[in-house]
Amino acid sequence: MVGQDVVKTVLENASKLDDPPHVYLFAGMRGTGKTTAARIFARALNCTSEGKKPCLKCESCKKFLEGSLDYVEMDAATHSSVEDARSLREMALIAPMSSRYRIFVIDEVHRLSPSAFDALLKIIEEPPPFSIFIFATTEPHKVPKTILSRVLRLDFSPVNTQLLASYLDKIASLEGYKLEKSLLLAIARRSEGSVRDSLSFLQQIFILFEKKSLSTKDIYSVLGIPDDEIISNMMNFIYKGDLSSLVNLIDSLRTSSFSPFAIVDSWIYFVLSKINTDTRPLKFIDRLIEAKSDLRYDPNPFMRFELEVYAIFSLLNRNVKINNDSDSKILEKKENIEEGIKKEDKVDINDINIKILANKITPPESFKEQKKVDLNIDQINKAYLKILEQIKNTNPLLHAKYVAAKPIKFEGNKITFGFSKKESRWHKEQFDSNKEEREMLRNMLSKELGFDVEITSEFIEKETKRDSKTKSSTLTFPDILQHFNAKEIKND
Ligand SMILES: [Zn+2]
Repeated sequence: MVGQDVVKTVLENASKLDDPPHVYLFAGMRGTGKTTAARIFARALNCTSEGKKPCLKCESCKKFLEGSLDYVEMDAATHSSVEDARSLREMALIAPMSSRYRIFVIDEVHRLSPSAFDALLKIIEEPPPFSIFIFATTEPHKVPKTILSRVLRLDFSPVNTQLLASYLDKIASLEGYKLEKSLLLAIARRSEGSVRDSLSFLQQIFILFEKKSLSTKDIYSVLGIPDDEIISNMMNFIYKGDLSSLVNLIDSLRTSSFSPFAIVDSWIYFVLSKINTDTRPLKFIDRLIEAKSDLRYDPNPFMRFELEVYAIFSLLNRNVKINNDSDSKILEKKENIEEGIKKEDKVDINDINIKILANKITPPESFKEQKKVDLNIDQINKAYLKILEQIKNTNPLLHAKYVAAKPIKFEGNKITFGFSKKESRWHKEQFDSNKEEREMLRNMLSKELGFDVEITSEFIEKETKRDSKTKSSTLTFPDILQHFNAKEIKND
């Protein structure tokens, strides 16, 4: 048994009492040693030697190892019926063959049917002096109160990571393996306090070790956890504001064997282990810890993980320059980024304004119900960006023309689009001269906003900071010609 010191002490003492309690409930998550404890306790109860631990030498201890009829283990997952409970009750009324006690262990006891519990209730209320019951469960809250009130309950806690790691070290050395401490800790963390899970991971590693020599990276992939290099890269991309590389990394993680839970867990661990040497902001750690506990119950854990990553990215990168080549990839992340931002209420969307990123934000449903007087320029901008997005697929050339336009003023029902004097002269000419296209834009905007708008244009005299940050995403006329493999035709 690993850990569970309190439980151990209680059981050791109980085993030597003249009249020990007769009904026990072992509660705790899977793999914490409930069944193992039940078996040791059963042997100790019947051991005829003086010590608190089973001696393994006396008649009773030997019998137990051979398979004693005085020890009955039943799994309630497969034996949950009232008949099963009744036959167990019959057996409990017959004196043991050769030991002091006949011990009944019912695993996953919460799976018993209500009538099965009823059938057991009477014998639990007045157990024969020679019968002991040990109920084990991962879900004690599902055990009826009438039963709970009659048991000695012992809670098995998840095993502490350090303790589990040193236990694994012992097991590994017994098998002739020497594993690095960081690796042992990784196995322990991955097992989340479950001894059984940790041993199963260890076994997998032993099997693979026999085939070839394994690198730490290989072993991490057995565990389904990303190594420090992946986490370190992810952190660097976030800190540097390199959204394009981050998107690529997240994509590769999606098809990897790593569970989002394991990734976030490693991430937290990585950050905490660097806390003394890394001076960069850590304001996202709370989010990660919260996400980790949510991930266990999330029906779509990878998406949740992705949202967290982008939200953290937004949190740490309020003014970021994005290259054109990352556009299409980021477009695919549309909903994630949008969701991530929505969740990060501390971040003002306008602060983040990566032009491309803003592109993806669709106005909320309630948008149309708002009165036009309530609309600010940012909301107009959002509506416009949504329209741009629609145009992009149906009319790329028109999109190329309009992408340089930016709503800068909203007065009455008039929206003024601003153009950069230096870079968007051609765009403004197109905007002004082609009445048909402009009318189409006007209609789309009116429809989107829910009231008739007028549109006009002007040059932006002074470049705003935001514009200069995002100018790399503004196409110039030569760019467009190149894009469409066209030449400029001068109209006379
Ligand atoms: Zn013994």
